[in-house]
Amino acid sequence: YSPRYWEILEKRKNLPVWLQKQEFLQTFKQNQMVLLVGETGSGKTTQIPQFVLEAVLNENPSPNCKKWLVGCTQPRRVAATSVSRRVAEEMDVEIGEEVGYTVRFEDCSSPQTVLKYLTDGMLLREAMADPLLQRYKAIILDEAHERTLATDLLFGLLKKVLTNRPDLKLVVMSATLETDRFRKYFSDAPLIKVPGRLHPVEILYTLEPEMDYLEAAISTVIQIHTCEPPGDILVFLTGEEEIEDACSRIARKLGDQVLVLPLYSTLPPAVQQKIFEPTPKPAVRKIVVSTNIAETSLTIDGVVYVVDPGFSKQKIYEPKTCVESLLVSPISQASADQRAGRAGRTQPGKCFRLYTEKSFNDLKQTPPEILRSNLANTVLTLKKLGVNDLVTFDFMEPPAPATLAGALADLFHLGALDDEVNLTKTGEMMSEVPLDPQMAKMLMVSSQYNCSNEILSLSAMLSVPNCFIRPRGEASKAANEAKSRFAHIDGDHLTLLNVYHAFLQNNQDPNWCYENFINYKAMKSAVSVREQLVRIMKRFQMKLCSTGFDSRDYYVNIKKALLAGYFMQVARLEKTTGHYLTVKDTNNQLVHLHPSNCLDHKPEWIVYKDYVKTSRNFIRTVTHIRGEWLVEVAPDYYNLAKFPKCEVNKKRKR
Ligand code: ADP
Ligand code: MG
Repeated sequence: YSPRYWEILEKRKNLPVWLQKQEFLQTFKQNQMVLLVGETGSGKTTQIPQFVLEAVLNENPSPNCKKWLVGCTQPRRVAATSVSRRVAEEMDVEIGEEVGYTVRFEDCSSPQTVLKYLTDGMLLREAMADPLLQRYKAIILDEAHERTLATDLLFGLLKKVLTNRPDLKLVVMSATLETDRFRKYFSDAPLIKVPGRLHPVEILYTLEPEMDYLEAAISTVIQIHTCEPPGDILVFLTGEEEIEDACSRIARKLGDQVLVLPLYSTLPPAVQQKIFEPTPKPAVRKIVVSTNIAETSLTIDGVVYVVDPGFSKQKIYEPKTCVESLLVSPISQASADQRAGRAGRTQPGKCFRLYTEKSFNDLKQTPPEILRSNLANTVLTLKKLGVNDLVTFDFMEPPAPATLAGALADLFHLGALDDEVNLTKTGEMMSEVPLDPQMAKMLMVSSQYNCSNEILSLSAMLSVPNCFIRPRGEASKAANEAKSRFAHIDGDHLTLLNVYHAFLQNNQDPNWCYENFINYKAMKSAVSVREQLVRIMKRFQMKLCSTGFDSRDYYVNIKKALLAGYFMQVARLEKTTGHYLTVKDTNNQLVHLHPSNCLDHKPEWIVYKDYVKTSRNFIRTVTHIRGEWLVEVAPDYYNLAKFPKCEVNKKRKR
C-alpha cells in the first residue's frame, strides 16, 4: 500500500462507525437484514460498504451467486460518483476496477468490480433484467431517510427478493430514520445506532421574515466573515443558477480573503472535489455554496458556520391536473436540523437560520417523493418487474389511488398498456429505455417518422445538463448573441438539434464551445448518451434514418415525432387574451412561455417538455406545432368529441 493509504486509514479509524465495527459485523453475519442509523459524517457511506465487503469475502461461495458484488445505492448521482472515488482512494485502487460506480448513462465499473456505488434508479433498472439481483451478495440502501421514489420501490422489491434469496444480505442505512416506521416495515430487523460526535451548534433566527433569501444569505456570509472567528461557511441555496450568482457576488465582495466554491450535481468531479481540500493558505476562509447535496449526501469537514435560508427545490404533484413540477419550497424541521448539524462536525458552531423561530415551528414534514410524483415511469417499471397488481405491492406508504389511475391513463394513451392493463410490446420497449415514458415513446416512433437520427440527438440533448452557458455581467450579452446564432425560429427542440449538429461539424472542439458559450462537458455527455441510445435502438432492430435536410419535410417529421411522444403536453394560444392554455379535456391551465425560449413569435399551438412553477406557471423547452397534427399523431387522445370539428378539423382541410 501507498503511504497515502496508511494516512487515510488513520483518519478512517477515527470515524464513529469504526467503534462499532465488530458489533456491526456480528449483527450482519447473524441476520439477513440490518438497519443502521448514524449521524451524518459518522462514516456510514464510505466505511460500512467496506466492512460488508470484508465480511462477504470471508464467506464461502454459494452456487446461487455468480459474483461477490456488493452494491451501495445513493439517491444522488453526484454522491455515487464522489463517494466511490473517495472509497477507491481509501482502498488504494483505481476507480472503475475493484471499486466502481454506475449512474444513468455512465458506467464506471468492470468485471473486477467487487464494490459498486450506484443510484437507486440504476439498481431498479438492473432488477428489470435480473429480478433476483443474482450478481449481488449484499445490497446496501443508503440515505433511506430521503425516501426517494426509487428507494421506496427498492424497499418493496428487496423485501420480496430476500425471501427468494436467503443468501442475499441487505443493509438499510440512514441519517435520521423514522425508526418505528422502518422497523415495523422491515419486520423488526435489528437496529444499530451509531452515535455521532456532534459539537453544540448555536441556532440564530431572524427577528422578521426575510423578503429575499438570496440577498439575505449573501449579506449573512459577509457579516460572518467580518465578525466571526475563523471557520468555514456552508450556505444552502436551491439551484445551480442561484448558487453561481451567489458565488460570484460573494467573491466580488470579499476578494481573495476567501475561497468560494459552488456545489451542485452537474459540476465536473474535479471541481466538486475542491470542497474537500483545505484552502491554499490557512488564513483563507472556505465558503461552500451548495444545494441540498451537502445536507446529508456529502460531508464537508471544517464547517463552523451554516447559513440556512430554509428552502430547497422540491418536486410537487397535482393529481387534479396530472402536473408534476419543481418548486422552491420550505424545508422540513428534520432538514433544518440536519443543516444545522453540518456546523458542529469538527468544533462548536453556529447556524444562521434566515427565518423566524415561529416559521421554524410551523415547518411541515415533507411527504415522501412517491406521494408527490407523477407515477407513469414508476408504473412502467413495476409492470416490467412483474408486479402486475399495483394495489397489492408492499409500499411503505402507498400512493393515492387517483395518482396511480392518472399514471395508468397516461401509459394507456402512450400505447404502453393495453385494455387489460398489461404491458404492450411498445410498453416493454419503453420500460427498457432509460428515459421518461414520453421521451421513450418519441424515440420508439421516430423511425416511423423517418427521423430517428435526429430524434436520437434530440433525446441525448434533452438528457444532459443545459448546454448554454449563461455568464453574469458583461459576458451575458455575448452569450445571448452566441445563443441566438443557434436559435431555430420554431423553438427550443430544434435549437438544441442545431447546437448538436454544430458541435459535430466543429469536430467536438472545446475551443469552439468556449467561443460559443456552449458547455463542452454537457456536449460530450450528449454524444455518449446518444451512442448508448443507438445501441438500444439497434437491439430493438429499429431503423436509423433521416428525412434529409434538403427535404421540406425534414423539420415537419421531427416535430411530428416529438409530438407523438409529448402529445399530452400541448398548449394553445388564446387569441383574445394572448395567453397560453394547456390542452386537456378538463382543467386547462394558464401557462407562460419560459423566458429561455427561442421563439420569435407566439405560435398558436405549442408542445412543451417541462412545466415549471415559480411565481407563475411556466412551460419550458417549447416548439411550434400545427393543431391538425394532433389528430394525426394521437387520434385516440384527440378524438373529435373532445375537440369539436371547428377547432382541429377545419385546419385539417386547409
Ligand atoms: P456518512 O455517510 O455517515 O454521512 P461519510 O462516510 O460520507 O459519512 O463520510 C465520512 C468522512 O469521510 C467524512 O468526514 C468526510 O469528510 C470524509 N470524506 C468523504 N468523502 C470525502 C472526499 N471525497 N474527500 C475527503 N474526505 C471525504
Ligand atoms: Mg452518507
